[in-house]
Amino acid sequence: MAKLDVEEYNDMIFSRINNLISEYDLIKENELIAVALSGGKDSVLTLHALKGYQEFLDFDLVAISVDEGIKGYRAHGIDAAVNNARELGIELIQKSFLEDEGFALDDIYQEFKSACIPCGVFRRNILNKTAYEVGASKIATGHNLDDEIQSFLMSFARGDTIKFSKFGPELDVIHPKLVPRIKPLWNTPEKDVGTWAILNNIEIHLDECPYSHLSLRAKIKEFLNVNEDAHPGLKKNIMESFQKILTFENDISTNLNECEVCGEPTSSNICKACEIKKDLVS
Ligand code: SF4
Repeated sequence: MAKLDVEEYNDMIFSRINNLISEYDLIKENELIAVALSGGKDSVLTLHALKGYQEFLDFDLVAISVDEGIKGYRAHGIDAAVNNARELGIELIQKSFLEDEGFALDDIYQEFKSACIPCGVFRRNILNKTAYEVGASKIATGHNLDDEIQSFLMSFARGDTIKFSKFGPELDVIHPKLVPRIKPLWNTPEKDVGTWAILNNIEIHLDECPYSHLSLRAKIKEFLNVNEDAHPGLKKNIMESFQKILTFENDISTNLNECEVCGEPTSSNICKACEIKKDLVS
């Protein structure tokens, strides 16, 4: 394989991200964007890309990391988050399940079919609350093309069609207390993110979460990777099919309430995080 030119590679990857941001108008002038920074390659690239995009548009950045409390795993990710934020001169707000919720994921995961269920619920909850409190108008996540296809197939497999509304590079404002998400890596394949990190010698957290193999996502990811090798172009075709069949209309916009317990936005009367906490104490 020909040796990759770092500068050319960086131009390619950042142009694609910049074009997506401008095509979908993901960031507006004077906004404060909160980057969800786990320290993994995707969130680190998102941080570097948005820092670079400040050359073209006047907006502010802050980063938020959430320590879920996974022993032997999360600490290295936090180090990578701290060091990348410091190098780029971006403030990092550090949060944790333990401080915000009073428990670590390691303490509660056995109560669930998959650790990813409470992990995702509380991480989203803490990110949203923190971004809202600091006045961020959007949360930028590191979801890449592969993540998007996996999420879509997971919703498909679960018959959870309401989640289709979360497909796309940006989620609309559907409740004043729910900070909308943007996904600057929406059309960036995962392997490109890894190549960028290696070529540029970026400090990233590479370890696999010890709970990830139990998740449906891991199984779908493996299925897609194995079949992409056997049938090149499969992921691209799935993504294009989704784009063709979806209208991107968000039909949950009118159904969001505020949680009767904590006040966070929810489609039920009590949010998922409070429901889980209630079950944990009973
Ligand atoms: Fe959380 Fe699951 Fe991701 Fe591990 S793999 S960090 S448990 S969502």
